Amino acid sequence: MTTNRLEPCIKLPLENEILEDIVDKAKDWALMHGAGMRSKVNFSKDSLQFAPFILLPSTFPREEFNKATEIQIILNELIHKVAHDYGFLSSSLKSTVEVDEFTSRLFKIYETVHNEGTAQPVCLGLIRSDIMLESQCTENACCTVTGPYCCWKQVEVNTIASGFGWLGPASASIHRYVLQELGHGDKIKNVPVNTALEGLCGGMLEAWKIYGDPNAVILFVIENITYNICDQRFHEFEIRRQNRMVVVIRRTLTQIADTAKLGKNKELSIDGLSVAVVYFRSGYEPAQYPSSKEWAARLMIERSLAIKCPSIHYHLAGTKKVQQTLATPGVLEKFLTDPAKVDAVKEIFTGLYSLDLDEDGNRAAEMAIMKPECYVLKPQREGGGNNVYGEKVREVLQSMTDSQERTAWILMERIIPPVQKGYMIRPGGPEVPQLVDLVSELGIFGVIIGNASTVIANRQVGHMLRTKLSSADEGGVAAGSGALDSPYLI
Ligand code: ADP
Ligand code: MG
Ligand code: MG
Repeated sequence: MTTNRLEPCIKLPLENEILEDIVDKAKDWALMHGAGMRSKVNFSKDSLQFAPFILLPSTFPREEFNKATEIQIILNELIHKVAHDYGFLSSSLKSTVEVDEFTSRLFKIYETVHNEGTAQPVCLGLIRSDIMLESQCTENACCTVTGPYCCWKQVEVNTIASGFGWLGPASASIHRYVLQELGHGDKIKNVPVNTALEGLCGGMLEAWKIYGDPNAVILFVIENITYNICDQRFHEFEIRRQNRMVVVIRRTLTQIADTAKLGKNKELSIDGLSVAVVYFRSGYEPAQYPSSKEWAARLMIERSLAIKCPSIHYHLAGTKKVQQTLATPGVLEKFLTDPAKVDAVKEIFTGLYSLDLDEDGNRAAEMAIMKPECYVLKPQREGGGNNVYGEKVREVLQSMTDSQERTAWILMERIIPPVQKGYMIRPGGPEVPQLVDLVSELGIFGVIIGNASTVIANRQVGHMLRTKLSSADEGGVAAGSGALDSPYLI
């Protein structure tokens, strides 16, 4: 397999002396401008370390970047319609719900509120569609261009806890500083403006206004320990900057279970405060529901009059099983009536296959057993670190032959992005980092507000870029092996 390369934004390597000096300054810039996280190794609420970052912005083709931002409002509309189609969600998730305990519990909450009638018809979607440039057109050849890339493909859509609305823009600020210091100020114009934080927080405030109680607060549902604290707090600070009347409170699901109540009109209140908007930064993985209490808290929130980001049906619309079902021929047409939109979305899907215990599922499993390096095996999980790659795809699939368990997984063609050289700066790393091979994943943020029949707002609001070693399977920044980055458009 040939390696397809993108050229870095400036000539590399840097001389050691220059490199050591700029790395030292860039770390301090990052730390002093909020590009931080709490340490998992030496955790303390009283200290921060800089989040891992790439020293210079990574080259990304402008045309593909523009296409990705333009299609976001179509993806928002698609997810909104999918989320409001009870029949579709039920049938897509039917086999998954039978074997996957976590999805099954989410689905039970969905059914309960669906049967009771939803108290709050308005939903807020803060969505992030993640994409990678594709450098190896295979069976799914999307174009005939020869070069370091030919198009981009969607990795997944996140509808819950879509983070990095702050750390995305913060990365560009590090890069503008580094380019300036290295004497490349003229290149700053190629680092695009990123209004993710303003846009996402603007969405929360618009939902808060729709709720209509000037005394009500915005509730952030948080993990027991928040490592990604800068990203979350900057959302809170931005909400307060845009409207200082609005109070933000932070609670875990356990605290909500202990203290929240529903009023006679299903108003959600906590410690005497009415809640207008619930923004989940937790609640997307099984460990975040350690007991039935946390599940009861989630159900209470879903039953309430508060506007949820996301509501349970939006959460389910973001599952990998739904993504795979949407890629099945003829399905997009159910939701998008404009054929041009259908074609545009089809183009960004790479091969996605069901692993149900039927003929199609068997065929997909056999295909991946033959060529495991060409596929990724995915369960219905979020937050990184759950997928299976390479030889293990074969092992896991073989271990699940004829087992119902297989239906909880989907199979996806592996995207091979172009590689570029760069420096990854990590806390505790060397003073003079090595030049390494890197690959990137771009996330585009969307905001959508609406109910089953009407879309009130639909916008693309910004982006984030994450970069990892080209040899790594996954690259979550919070999960460990990835680093903050921003695109340098060429
Ligand atoms: P999660 O919801 O856990 O973030 P993802 O589907 O985004 O799940 O997968 C996690 C990571 O795995 C991605 O960020 C990406 O680095 C890698 N990955 C996922 N799907 C593919 C794919 N089809 N090709 C290449 N890498 C992938
Ligand atoms: Mg995800
Ligand atoms: Mg992901």
